[in-house]
Amino acid sequence: MKRSKTLTILLMLALSVMLAIAGCGSSAGTTQEAAGTDSTATTEGAATDKAAAAEATDQKEAEATEATSGASETVGYTPLDQLQESYDIVIIGGGGAGMTAALEAKAAGMNPVIFEKMEAAGGNTLKSSSGMNASETKFQKEQGIEDSNDLFFEETLKGGHDTNNQEMLRYFVDNSASAIDWLDSQGITLDNITITGGMKEKRTHRPTDGSAVGQYLVSGLVADVQEQGIPLFVNADVKEITQENGQASGVKVVFDGSDEKTISAGAVIVATGGFGANQELIKQYRPDLEGYVTTNQPGSTGDGITMIEALGGTTVDMDQIQVHPTVNQEKSYLIGEVVRGEGGILVDKEGNRFVNEMDTRDNVTAAITKLDNRESYLIFDSGVKSRAKAIEQYEKMGLVQAGETVEALAEQIGLPAEGLKATLDTWNASVAAKKDAAFGRETGMDNDLSGAPYYAVKIGPGIHYTMGGVKINNNTEVLNTAGEAIPGLYAAGEVTGGLHGQNRIGGNSVAEIVIFGREAGVKASEFVKGNQ
Ligand code: ADP
Repeated sequence: MKRSKTLTILLMLALSVMLAIAGCGSSAGTTQEAAGTDSTATTEGAATDKAAAAEATDQKEAEATEATSGASETVGYTPLDQLQESYDIVIIGGGGAGMTAALEAKAAGMNPVIFEKMEAAGGNTLKSSSGMNASETKFQKEQGIEDSNDLFFEETLKGGHDTNNQEMLRYFVDNSASAIDWLDSQGITLDNITITGGMKEKRTHRPTDGSAVGQYLVSGLVADVQEQGIPLFVNADVKEITQENGQASGVKVVFDGSDEKTISAGAVIVATGGFGANQELIKQYRPDLEGYVTTNQPGSTGDGITMIEALGGTTVDMDQIQVHPTVNQEKSYLIGEVVRGEGGILVDKEGNRFVNEMDTRDNVTAAITKLDNRESYLIFDSGVKSRAKAIEQYEKMGLVQAGETVEALAEQIGLPAEGLKATLDTWNASVAAKKDAAFGRETGMDNDLSGAPYYAVKIGPGIHYTMGGVKINNNTEVLNTAGEAIPGLYAAGEVTGGLHGQNRIGGNSVAEIVIFGREAGVKASEFVKGNQ
């Protein structure tokens, strides 16, 4: 696939603008763990891989910064004067699912358009790090990994506490390998395979260099969309899906905050992502999460859900929201599990440990939530810092506090020095004995915390991913309350619900957007052709 230097620069620009908007610093993808749930399996190997990934992404960040200085913000996207009144297919949302759907629609001979409400494409997809889960892939076979679609099915179902939509899940696992092949054919090669929590086999596919999947995937998809001549409008906020004779017929979209246009289409694909940045919706479905910070980009406001409900569509699992335990509250920045995986511990305001830091996300979150102000400190030493490269990024962002001694660190962060010192002494003895009598931690204990200087990051839980959403079938048709498809209306990605049930496994969100995004592009195209 041809990639000109100019295009690369434009893509870097797009990515950095997006990240700036997200308020996450320019390498949010570095440390965001789209990784799921039962993360007790953050093994030392995985932790090291993640550190390497973070390092590679830091490099990208430096390049992006270099490439973007002085450029204007929306270069590379379709200018408004090229807007048509009508398209075969309107795709709402320029994240992973939307761009994937657009590429399949174009391949089917359609004339699709993508409307993205933010200043750049990418959505939350840009922030994903773990990779893309898939089973029975050519890359697994080449690397001697014995996996099966059935095992992938079983483990995802177990991870979701048996609440996943099993029809969707079956389709998902059975089409995962072909999705990896399809990406490869688009110049997006995910052949470096690792493992995330809740799995027995390595099936999390990452870029060759082990870097975070989100930036690589988004820049690849944007390049492909541009190469295919698919119009991608940014600052294009879709407000309503129009209907004629009970069939989706187009959208009302506001450009640049004021210029409203009605665009007609033979079909509409909703790929607007989740609602993790919409405090009102969060409060409505999960009053207990009111006021939590979010790791989501600001465009994740659940617009697609509201628009689909207005057409009679229905939702599922809306109260199933994944909360990540270690998010810096001031900058809403996710502190990756690698820091704990490499040996970090969590302490309360007395300097005491209070949980097995390597327990599942929900359990660690629950323990932090019981503390005063939901505040905890992640404590580590210079050894952890050298093994978890992502920490350099946290330092650049001003999130890390340091002390030459444990006492100095305690003073710096306002914890009782004696308490913190006693905690570290006990912890180091536990590491030496390979037994954590207090909380039963078993992983992330290869190294103690005895190498000065000492460090702390203040953290608390943050909203990370919305598992619920609109109900679809395996054709990605949006269903109404009677379970019937609404003609001409399709949805894919985080906007949909059901696949993950109550608990998403790390690496399954990227797989979902590619697998169901492709299907949406194919099925919407068939629908349009059938009506021509
Ligand atoms: P997914 O992973 O499902 O693709 P993402 O979060 O990556 O989800 O992408 C969804 C995209 O949809 C985001 O870039 C978001 O800004 C965009 N979006 C959300 N609501 C609208 C809307 N009303 N109009 C246009 N784009 C939207």
